[in-house]
Amino acid sequence: MLKQVFATLSMLLLVSAAPAQEGPRQLKPGWNLFSKDQDIQLGKEAAAQVEQQMAVIQNQELTAYVRRIGDKLAAAPEAGGFPYTFKVVNDKSINAFALPGGPAFVHTGLLTAADNEAQVAGVLAHEISHVALRHGTNQASKANLIQLPALLAGGLLGKSGSMLGQLSQLGIGLGANSVLLKFSRNAERDADLLGTRLMAAAGYNPIEMARFFEKLEAEGGSRGPQFLSDHPNPGNRVKAVEAEIRYLPQRSYTTGDGTAFTRVRKLVAALPPPPARPAAQAGGTAAGGTTAGGTAAGAPALPDLRPSRGVREYRGAGYTFSYPDNWQVVSEAQAPTVTVAPRAGLVQGGDGTAIGAGLVAGFQTGRGDLRTDTTELVRQMISSNPGMQVASTKDARVDGQPALLVTLQTKSPFAGETEIDTMAAVERPGGLFYLVLIAPRSALANLQPAYNAILGSIRFTK
Ligand code: ZN
Repeated sequence: MLKQVFATLSMLLLVSAAPAQEGPRQLKPGWNLFSKDQDIQLGKEAAAQVEQQMAVIQNQELTAYVRRIGDKLAAAPEAGGFPYTFKVVNDKSINAFALPGGPAFVHTGLLTAADNEAQVAGVLAHEISHVALRHGTNQASKANLIQLPALLAGGLLGKSGSMLGQLSQLGIGLGANSVLLKFSRNAERDADLLGTRLMAAAGYNPIEMARFFEKLEAEGGSRGPQFLSDHPNPGNRVKAVEAEIRYLPQRSYTTGDGTAFTRVRKLVAALPPPPARPAAQAGGTAAGGTTAGGTAAGAPALPDLRPSRGVREYRGAGYTFSYPDNWQVVSEAQAPTVTVAPRAGLVQGGDGTAIGAGLVAGFQTGRGDLRTDTTELVRQMISSNPGMQVASTKDARVDGQPALLVTLQTKSPFAGETEIDTMAAVERPGGLFYLVLIAPRSALANLQPAYNAILGSIRFTK
């Protein structure tokens, strides 16, 4: 059964990887387990989450400006007829993103960074193209073809708010490096191509789209804007757009409405600073809270373990992942395993530091068989953590690779708490890669989105 699924997928991937012929390329959405309606529902739920978590601007004039540009671009038949919406987020970072099925958001920082209206249109055209070509759910489909079919067939449509939640449990959420929002270079190339056509149809000079991306690239350096980390440069953007324009009917292009653009930049400059995000109060609720009555002597009470929304990237030997930026890399750089944890997640005990929340990642030498090696690793973990037991083992995918997801339970170093450990294991050339996410059960609800994002962010680099 499993083998058959894989055979089907690789066949479909081969088809989509066929070489480009001469002439304008046909752009069509790739293989997808989601239906178009499921794209739309997922996007609606995700947009509701964005509206709760980000400073979406209510300023009519500003929103209307972006909507006017977006609607013009989305009117082209090639935009796929999705119910597009366009909103502005009060955030100085240079970013924009679109959710499956149509909701698009532009940061004020991007409006400030653009040189003209056509460059704003370029970003929107590029984002609309990702939606129209259904890149987010295409990537999600490829990332989790084991559990998704059953989940998507399970009659989720109609149950409001249920889809994103269930997908998040498979690591397909909105966190950093989400498969829904971080695109491959091939997807980028296609979004540039379709974006060129949408811009041309709306009368904007398509070159401005490529120029803006190249400008960000040139200014960004290694710590470039978030936009570029989610939309990696497929290379030669200006040349590719120029080549595509040659296939389009000749017409004169503009850089947009200069007066309106200047006015909008003034509006942005006059905005109040974005409201402070609810910062994670590390240890806030548990300041000095080691005196919880009636619990085991010495075990601290559960601190506030809410992760921050910002992320940092950890680069290990052969792998990378992102983690909340209020966590710290605890172990030494040369250690074979790495521990990354919030300060409040570390518990000082008689026999060293216990990790009550956070993660441990590393390699274990084995025989090269995922199931055998994972079983052996779990056996070792149980033997060094008396009382630990396996709750479940599931097939999964990590960075597109077959993986096992093992959930274990044990006693937490926090008073009265059960610890839930979720381990992802993947065979790599260097041995069995594993990453264990550690959480006290009572804090799991707060940690789960960040933990799903960490699992979804794992990338193998060799
Ligand atoms: Zn992109």
